[in-house]
Amino acid sequence: MPGMDKSASQRFLLTTFGCQMNLADGQRIRGILQRLGYDETENEADADLILFNTCCVREHAEERLFSRVQSLKRLKAGRPELIIGVTGCLAQHHKKRLFEELPLTDFIFGPNDIEELPAILAALIAEPGRRRAGSFADVGHFAGEEADGIVLDRPFSAFVNIIRGCTNFCTYCIVPSVRGPEVSRPIHELIGLVTSLAARGVTEVTLLGQNVNAYGRDIGLADGFPRLLEELESVSGLRRIRFLTSHPRDFSAETIGRIARLSKVCESFHLPVQAGADRVLSLMNRGYTREYYLELLATVRELIPGVSITTDLICGFPSETDSEFEETLDLVRRARFDTAYMYYYSPRSGTKALDIAGLLPEEIRKERLARLIELQNSISQQISAELPGKKFEILVESVSTHGEGHVVGKTRTGRPIDLAGPASLVGNYVTVLVERARLWTLSGRLLQHDVEFEP
Ligand code: SF4
Repeated sequence: MPGMDKSASQRFLLTTFGCQMNLADGQRIRGILQRLGYDETENEADADLILFNTCCVREHAEERLFSRVQSLKRLKAGRPELIIGVTGCLAQHHKKRLFEELPLTDFIFGPNDIEELPAILAALIAEPGRRRAGSFADVGHFAGEEADGIVLDRPFSAFVNIIRGCTNFCTYCIVPSVRGPEVSRPIHELIGLVTSLAARGVTEVTLLGQNVNAYGRDIGLADGFPRLLEELESVSGLRRIRFLTSHPRDFSAETIGRIARLSKVCESFHLPVQAGADRVLSLMNRGYTREYYLELLATVRELIPGVSITTDLICGFPSETDSEFEETLDLVRRARFDTAYMYYYSPRSGTKALDIAGLLPEEIRKERLARLIELQNSISQQISAELPGKKFEILVESVSTHGEGHVVGKTRTGRPIDLAGPASLVGNYVTVLVERARLWTLSGRLLQHDVEFEP
């Protein structure tokens, strides 16, 4: 790399906060740093470069970052040559004041500037002590990635960004102003990328976007998302296709029908509903009603038998009444989600929801959340209780935290199953009989070993 002058023994520590989009960005950053000759370490004291890949969706994540960077003060004082950087949504959001707020930081760059990282590091090494920033020039630009530049946490499974940004402007969400408008990566590039990943041994891809259903709209493909899935279905070596996240408003019956015909697309849909009352959905600017949402679920379940449906829910939105919260509980009872990510509303600077009158006291928001979690957990428990005695194909993902001689894998529906087995099963597809069920995770017994994984 021109301008780089570093010994091969330098090490980086990368910490990623937030969603799968950030994890995918982390894969690319790791690939770039390894190409530059850095080795990865998990120990701050060993690192020459400490980089935080941040999320700003929740205020809490921001606070965590600030305290993590501040905690490096003593390390930096003892080793002034230590380089500290911040990237991700928070760097994009606070680009004008991050150096002031985090004086220990040597460089910042946005999620769309990842390819600038080598030049930024070269400049930092050439002129130590002078801070550097990425261009932050065009958040709507899709910075592509090549298969050989991605370092996979698991060599058989990859995240692939298909669309960046979001143009939905949900009133509680900061993403559109941070990540910019929707920009799709051209379909031929994605097919090429996934084909190369499959040739490297990847058998499962998770397609990522804030709203994957919008894929292709900005590049003139009205049916871009189902078309992309249909083309990926024929990639040799690929066995499972997943995607995250779908906006319910953009999921047509026609798209669901086309997806239902594809054998590699897993029966697992994350469909964030957020609330169950029409007035609250409207205040959130979600663009659908509860009736529309429940009909959508009925269509998915009719066309894709055995599908697992998960969701996101926010309770205690400003001005939400008791009866509107009851409507959310009612929707949860009817929808019977496999599981849900549940939160109570927290004000977030930079969002329109701040202007909505009627912020509820925190104790009411917390109390509603506790009721919501209790209800959803009882439904998850009932669904899980039906699974013992059933057989599932799983992709074994890792050695289990439950102890030596155990591994854990996921069903096509996204359920983790723990089973006794050697670490050599990791990366393989096996058939498992479920023996016990907890709330979401299962334990089972190995029945059949289907495919040898060849890294
Ligand atoms: S769809 Fe709504 S919640 Fe999701 S990223 Fe876009 S604005 Fe945020």
